Amino acid sequence: MKTFKVNIVTPDGPVLEDEANMVIATTEAGEIGVLPGHIAMVAPLQIGGLRIKKGETTKVIAVNSGFMEVRPDIVTILAQSAEKAETIDLARAKIAEKRAKAKLAQEKNKLELQLAELELKRAINRIRVSEGRI
Ligand code: ATP
Repeated sequence: MKTFKVNIVTPDGPVLEDEANMVIATTEAGEIGVLPGHIAMVAPLQIGGLRIKKGETTKVIAVNSGFMEVRPDIVTILAQSAEKAETIDLARAKIAEKRAKAKLAQEKNKLELQLAELELKRAINRIRVSEGRI
C-alpha cells in the first residue's frame, strides 16, 4: 500500500513525524480524507480529531485549529496545539471543560464568551480523543 509523509508541527515543536496511507482531518469545510498523490492544497482546520491510518493502525491526534498543507507525497499540519491521544491529560481537560462551562454560564462580555466557547471546544475535543471517541 502506498504511503506519504505526515508532519504535525506546533509552536512548541514537532508533535509527530510519520508515514500514512490516509489522513482524515476536520477542515472548516468539513471532513476530508487525504490519500497518496492528492493534489496540492491548503485547508484551514477546525478544532477536531485528526486520524492517521497506516495499515491496520489508526493514530488519533487532538488538533486545535491551524492549517493543513497537502502535497502529493507529504501532508503538513501547522496547529496552535496538538496532542497524541496517549499524551492527553484527561483530568486537566475535564477541569478545563468545567471552567469553560462555568464561564459560559456567567460571562456577559461577547469576546470573553467567544473565548470560553473555544476553550470548551478544545476541552471536549481532548476528552473525546483521549477516550477514543473520535
Ligand atoms: P488548559 O486550560 O488546560 O491550559 P487550554 O485549552 O487553554 O487548556 P492550550 O492553550 O490549547 O490549553 O494549550 C497550551 C499547551 O498545553 C499546549 O502545548 C497544549 O498541547 C497543552 N495542553 C493543553 N491541555 C492539555 C491536556 N489536557 N493534555 C495535554 N496537553 C495539554
